[in-house]
Formats: sequence, C-alpha cells, structure tokens
Amino acid sequence: MLAIGMLRDKPGVHTFEMPVPEIRQPDEVLVRVKEVGVDGTDFNMVKFNLQDIAEGRDEIAMGHEMVGLVEAVGAGVKSVAPGDVVTVTVRRGCGECHPCLHNMSDMCMTGHYRERGLHKLDGFLTQLIVEQEQYVVKVPTELKRFAVFTEPLSIVEKGVEQLRTIQSRLPWTCPHPAHGFLSPDWGQCKSALVVGAGPLGLLAIALLRLAHVNVYASDIVAEDSPKVALAQRLRAHYIDARGKTPKEVVDLCCTVGPLEIIFEASGAAATAVQLINHMSRSSIYIMTGIPREEVCIEIDAAQLVRQIVRFNQVVAGSVNSNRNHYEMALRDLGEINKRFDGVLAEMLTNRYLFDDYEQAFGPRDEKHIKTVIEVEPWE
Ligand SMILES: [Zn+2]
Ligand SMILES: [Zn+2]
Repeated sequence: MLAIGMLRDKPGVHTFEMPVPEIRQPDEVLVRVKEVGVDGTDFNMVKFNLQDIAEGRDEIAMGHEMVGLVEAVGAGVKSVAPGDVVTVTVRRGCGECHPCLHNMSDMCMTGHYRERGLHKLDGFLTQLIVEQEQYVVKVPTELKRFAVFTEPLSIVEKGVEQLRTIQSRLPWTCPHPAHGFLSPDWGQCKSALVVGAGPLGLLAIALLRLAHVNVYASDIVAEDSPKVALAQRLRAHYIDARGKTPKEVVDLCCTVGPLEIIFEASGAAATAVQLINHMSRSSIYIMTGIPREEVCIEIDAAQLVRQIVRFNQVVAGSVNSNRNHYEMALRDLGEINKRFDGVLAEMLTNRYLFDDYEQAFGPRDEKHIKTVIEVEPWE
C-alpha cells in the first residue's frame, strides 16, 4: 500500500510503501480513505523540511484532514458501522497529564502528545488506516463532499469556544441581556476582525457570521481576488491591508463601535503583534496562525504592557482541537453551506488524484484556496 509523506534522508514529498493495516483490537476501526485536505502546515512541512518522524522510522505519512468510509469494525465498536462516512481526529494524548486523561489532549500540559500526519504518527494520505473508535467521528452522509473541512473548522470552533469562555468574564458589552458571550445569540451587537482570508480565515468568518457577528476580514490581496469574493459571500467587509498600518485597519473596523474580537489566521507575525497595540478596551485577541521564519520588530514594551493592563485585554493562543470540536464542526458545516449557498464547494479550488501528489504540493497561484487530494473517488 502506497503512502504520501516525508522521508528522513530526502527533503520534499515522496511516496513509500506501508504495510496494509488490520484490526487487532475490539475497539478498532478500519477506514478506507477517500479525500485528504492539504493545509498551510503541510505545505510548510515540505517547504522547510520540518520532519517529525518517530524514532525507529525513516518516514512519516502526511495528511491530517481526512474523510473516509468505514470498511470494517472490531467486535466492541458501537458508534460506527461499515459503510459510514467518518473523519478521524489528529492528536493523541500524552497519557500523563490531566487534560489528556480527560479527552482534552488539545490542551496537553506536557507536550508529549503525538499527531497523525504532523508529529510522530502516520497521517491519512494512504489507502487504509486503522484507528481506535474514540478518535473516529461519524459524518452525516450529505456532508461527505465538504467533510475535509471538519478538521480546520474544528480549529476555528475551539478558537471561538475559547473566546466565548474567556469573555464570559464580561456579561455586558451592549444593552441586551441575551447577548452575553455564553448565550446562543452571543454574536449580536459585536464586531470581529479576521486577519487572513485563507481557508482557516474564511471558516472563521463563516462561523462568526453564523453567530451574526459583524465581521471585517483583512488580507493582502486585491478586491477582485477569489478569496475576497468568498469573504464577501459570507457577508464580511473586506479590508485590503496593503499600504495600511495596523491602526488604519483597526480604525476601519471601529466605525460602528468597538472591536470586541480579533481572530488571527494568517501567521503574519509582525502584523499579528502590531495589532495588539490597537485592540479595543476589554477585548480579546485569538491567535491561531503559526509563523515559521524568524521575524524581529521593535516595540515600545512599556506602552504595550501599560495598555494590556489598563484596557483589561486578553491575547490567547489556540491550537488543535478535540473530539467535541469535531462534533461542533460537523453540526455547523451543513449550516454554513446552507446559509451561504454552497460556499464550501467553491473553497475547494484545487483537486488532485493520489498519483498527482507532486503537483498537489507544488506552486499555487493566487486563485488557490484549498487543495484536496482524492485518494479514491467517491463513485
Ligand atoms: Zn498531555
Ligand atoms: Zn446587544
């Protein structure tokens, strides 16, 4: 069985042989992989040769955004059955810390976790995988063509959950008692800036718009870019940040009131830090983008600390997601597609067959939003 991934002694993306996996425990599920999404992390792994191969191995299969079909299940498996459409979570806990021992490995406290396709464990870019039932999440059949978005949307779900949880410290941002951060109508009377209109940014816009947040989206592309068309389809106000200072960008977001939320999904480190200087009072800034190269800037540290203290500001990082976030994402995927008229299909701009994996990881033009590798066609 062939897999797509990285080799210890050869940079780039390659195929290699892996043994066909088999069910050996009663809680295991054999899944036939159908589609795998490729994201910025995958592209960076190849570009910067960021290998994270387990000891004793010379290769790692890539791919962590997956949708597949259950082929067979162990005797004890109850939640899925052969023929079900499923996705599989990414992180496997350290087995040592309390969050990991309570199904919250996304909050691991030791850092000794592993991740399929990213860190020490094989990913999903191969024909068949075996996984424990607890990490296999059933996907409603009608969502199968968008289910590669479950993992990235789960990242956004966690970010939004974090911001709502943290900001529940602040029950009143407007006159309406039903608009508190933990209420179902929490997004009303609130504005957010989503930085970066790539796949993660667009999903963040979509999720915030589902909650009726007034969303501004900034990126460094022209108004006629397909990214902008999608952001506008999600009814976000686009801000072309080229030639604008972070202050000018934020000022454009504050025309109707304060900016309660900044959601960073670009990984552009300098801008990400400079934006902190322009946060509204009592607001929150969620960072999800992960910069790779070294970026040094000069800041007035005293001003920054003074402002964070005086304005009760929160800057919070959010990484990975747990099974709950996958389930939330699957509830919202259908809703996003319905509310915004098939927007998810349009985000899937680049589709490649398994054999064309080199192209899939190759150069991308400005129309590119999301790459999907079709491991095995649905029909
Ligand atoms: Zn842990
Ligand atoms: Zn309100």
